[in-house]
Amino acid sequence: MDKTLRIRTIQVGRRLWVEDFMDISVKSGKLGFTPTWHMVWSYKNGAMSQDEYTKIYAEMMTRSLLKSPEKWNAILKSGSVTLGCYCPPGVFCHRLLLAEYLRQYAEAQGYKVIMGGEVLKDTMSLTERQKFSQ
Ligand SMILES: [Zn+2]
Repeated sequence: MDKTLRIRTIQVGRRLWVEDFMDISVKSGKLGFTPTWHMVWSYKNGAMSQDEYTKIYAEMMTRSLLKSPEKWNAILKSGSVTLGCYCPPGVFCHRLLLAEYLRQYAEAQGYKVIMGGEVLKDTMSLTERQKFSQ
């Protein structure tokens, strides 16, 4: 059987556009995939660089995978996920980092990964577009 995983990202406000939304925001997100408020505020006020933020988040996700592999495997098995955070599209956001870590993990598990990018109106799937326009 062909194992595939489609990974996309989205701004939380658009979550109803997709059927595979997963909230990973610090504010309302799923535990195990969120950053911390300290990281978010430190980055926003300039006390933490993108590199530092990325390093800390990567370490957190390594621990998350070791501690709760079932959470990661559930995403793989679902076949598609759209990772959501409140940051606007096009700026540095941990949803882009997690998308990449998930890709690496899924590929290591033998999955073919489709990186669908950020969901914007013109990148919704046809069924999503039909649903949204109703
Ligand atoms: Zn974000």
